Amino acid sequence: MKRVFLLFLILCAVQVTAQDLPQYKRIVKELSSAKYQGRGYAKGGANKAGKFLEKEFRKAGVDEVTLQPFTIDINTFPGKMELWADGKKLTPGVDFSMREYSPGVHGEFPVYHIDTLNFDPDRIFADLAKPEYANCLVACEFWFTHKHRDVFSKLQKAGACTNAGLIYTWASPIKFFKAYGDHVVDKPIIWVTPESIEGVKTVRANVDNVFMKDCEIFNVIAKVEGERHDSCYVFTAHYDHLGNLGKKVFYAGANDNASGTATIVTLAAYYARHRPSYDMYFIAFSGEDANLRGSEFFAQHPVVPLSQIKYLFNIDMIGDNNPVQYCECSDEGLRGFALFEQINGEKQYFRALHRGDLAANSDHYPFATRHVPCIFLENENGDAFQYYHTIFDNWKTAVFDSYEPVFKLVTDFVEKY
Ligand SMILES: [Zn+2]
Repeated sequence: MKRVFLLFLILCAVQVTAQDLPQYKRIVKELSSAKYQGRGYAKGGANKAGKFLEKEFRKAGVDEVTLQPFTIDINTFPGKMELWADGKKLTPGVDFSMREYSPGVHGEFPVYHIDTLNFDPDRIFADLAKPEYANCLVACEFWFTHKHRDVFSKLQKAGACTNAGLIYTWASPIKFFKAYGDHVVDKPIIWVTPESIEGVKTVRANVDNVFMKDCEIFNVIAKVEGERHDSCYVFTAHYDHLGNLGKKVFYAGANDNASGTATIVTLAAYYARHRPSYDMYFIAFSGEDANLRGSEFFAQHPVVPLSQIKYLFNIDMIGDNNPVQYCECSDEGLRGFALFEQINGEKQYFRALHRGDLAANSDHYPFATRHVPCIFLENENGDAFQYYHTIFDNWKTAVFDSYEPVFKLVTDFVEKY
């Protein structure tokens, strides 16, 4: 009996030092709190989060933490964010947001609605030349503008047409994209839900943008020394997010990507306690939602030769509950994927792993194109995924199911690879 109890205690101890759900939740909650204002740039939230992570890695007991600074140009919206449709005030983040490369917009504007059923570009340009539509905002469903971007790109450029700007409709929940915010276009582009703009004749706007040139941000690189130093494993996750939409609204990004960031901190704590065979790097990237800027910078300035990376795990948005886990691999990572499938088949951490085509959608991509064996783990299409890049991806909607299976999958992999 005594022996059984001892065995039970040992098993408990092993559990405690493996994945750490309370720790994971604490970090997700912290990073998605108002203190970091959506981990963007204008209010310094991203860098504040980076400093927090530096401390967390040290607490986790890693051997070394370094900050890798770099600069980006980025368009931001930290100021006025007000919009009225026929006198009705709209709510930022709920009814409207801004295209990431939009300038600010101030004033009152007539609205010209594009007739998508009888689409005739000549008639549209003739209409827009009429005095009643001078300085108007042209409203249209986004995917339609995308399909006819030859026409709509003219409406974005100064001098090509007298319209003041564009309104794109996007179904609720309204999203904000930051990927192409490294420049500002000539005319404002506003995202609005269809129901907020339908039949509206006049829009009043008071929206400020701030374009930040050479904004200084940094990656956080933690290292746990292994028994061997000739090759290494790398765990990556981006900690930046979309920042503010005006003074009061921010994108908390609990799933994207406080979830992945918290995961790699707990992995660092685990390997600091279980000295690994090879060196381990835990890299929290900045600038991901601004188009993979931190990972691209690191890939150009690696602290360890990329050829020495045995395997890289990029963990982005695993704060969800789809029993099928989404993955992408580099060509060189495919051999490893077979092992992932084998482990998952035996242990059933997920019902299945679904591998999609490699895409430039997260921080594994700059490594995959440089022939590093790597996998991207993202839990798509669960309950949290609908809030992707919306203000509703926050602590209140956070889901935790995928943390433990992802943690176990990657640690089992390292043991067997
Ligand atoms: Zn994102």
